[in-house]
Amino acid sequence: MSIRKVTVYAASSQALDQAYVDAAGQLGRILGTAGLEIVYGGGGAGLMGAMANGALSAGARVTGVIPEFLKQVERGHQGLHRLEVVTDMRERKARMLANSDAVIALPGGCGTFEELFEAVTLKRLGQFLGPIILVNTQGYYNLLLEFLQYSVKNHFMNTAHLGLWQVVERPEEVVQALSHAGRWSEQQAVESAVVRSRT
Ligand code: AMP
Repeated sequence: MSIRKVTVYAASSQALDQAYVDAAGQLGRILGTAGLEIVYGGGGAGLMGAMANGALSAGARVTGVIPEFLKQVERGHQGLHRLEVVTDMRERKARMLANSDAVIALPGGCGTFEELFEAVTLKRLGQFLGPIILVNTQGYYNLLLEFLQYSVKNHFMNTAHLGLWQVVERPEEVVQALSHAGRWSEQQAVESAVVRSRT
């Protein structure tokens, strides 16, 4: 599968350690240098803003998708190629993922978790088939990954579901992870979506 357009989920927080901000900027620059088009939440601050600024500095085409109410309180990023204004968070999530070839999640809070888990769930059901890459800056996602293992151990998910996402420790590994992500087919997904046995 050739990857052309990626959706990036990332924190809105403006109070993070510099290491997170640096990695977000680095991811943006790497994606831009790789010639990838980016869609994200449209914020101008936090890891979202750092990623977008990095991507723009490397010449990427960047689209933001922001709900009207958020645009009013925080103003979307003003330097994007396109800032799509939508009615609500649901429409935003759908628009961010529509026509996207892959998902990348930087560290984030509940907003990022929600977006990430929607993509994972859609992939589990065969409704989204692209790679989903978690950028585990500073081991941020370790506890979440442990919990997902626990979920499999307790048969809430199949072992196969651990293949829904790939984890990289640094932004420098993302492009390779995108090109090496295993194929995920709709049929395979539907067949393994429900946990029917303990094997
Ligand atoms: P969080 O990780 O909770 O900070 O949420 C960030 C994610 O949710 C981003 O990927 C955005 O799509 C969305 N989001 C949440 N809050 C904002 C905000 N204030 N501005 C723009 N997007 C946001």
